[in-house]
Amino acid sequence: MTDRRRPMVAGNWKMNGVRNSLAELSEMAKGYDAALKAAVDLLICPPATLALAAAHAALGSHIAIGAQDCHPKASGAHTGDISAEMLADAGLTHIIVGHSERRSDHGESNAIVRAKAEAAARAGLVAIVCVGESEGDRRDGRALDVVGRQIDESIPPGITAAQLIVAYEPIWAIGSGLTPTPADITEVHTYIRDRLGRLIGLERLGARILYGGSVKPSNAAELLHAANVDGALVGGASLKSADFLAIAAAYRS
Ligand code: PEP
Repeated sequence: MTDRRRPMVAGNWKMNGVRNSLAELSEMAKGYDAALKAAVDLLICPPATLALAAAHAALGSHIAIGAQDCHPKASGAHTGDISAEMLADAGLTHIIVGHSERRSDHGESNAIVRAKAEAAARAGLVAIVCVGESEGDRRDGRALDVVGRQIDESIPPGITAAQLIVAYEPIWAIGSGLTPTPADITEVHTYIRDRLGRLIGLERLGARILYGGSVKPSNAAELLHAANVDGALVGGASLKSADFLAIAAAYRS
């Protein structure tokens, strides 16, 4: 199964970056050479203020540009929000939905995350649906139960493998420098894939499952080559082109 899915390394810039930061994107484009292009997809999700400029800057580089959130509706009286259709119009191809920081900062429930994933698919974009357990959940042996419920309730039943990427991001690993063991990651990814197969029959179609949480150049090879891992969603280490490219280099043969 792993062999048939093309890996992806995706960067989530979160609430970081101004126009000057696009220089990092240009450096990433320069370092995304033919051998790397043959091996791995790259995606950068800058803040909304940079989306349009980043999409322009990335033209011709084969680096995809995505968003970090969207509103479930296509348009209307929702001050401050941005729809998936607007993001598509700006040249974006992916939308992260249900990141744990949005779930906690904005009280996003699984139902909201699912509506946002539906919106991404409706607009012709790929939804990157984030799931992951808290430190307490893992300590109490509930990691699989929590992730399973998030999958069941956050993934739209009608979505296809081409419209979906799942990111497994244990909350306690995000920005902490801590990571699960490769065996733990494989256990959760295998569980997610099985759950997806039962939920929407995607198992054989091969939606990608990325790992996220303190991925950096020094641990990328170990984490990304764990069984059933199709790439990474990277926060802090995606802000610097050298780090991001060094993580992607885990896929160089
Ligand atoms: C993230 O927030 O998606 C993330 C994985 O962050 P970091 O890589 O900084 O842990």
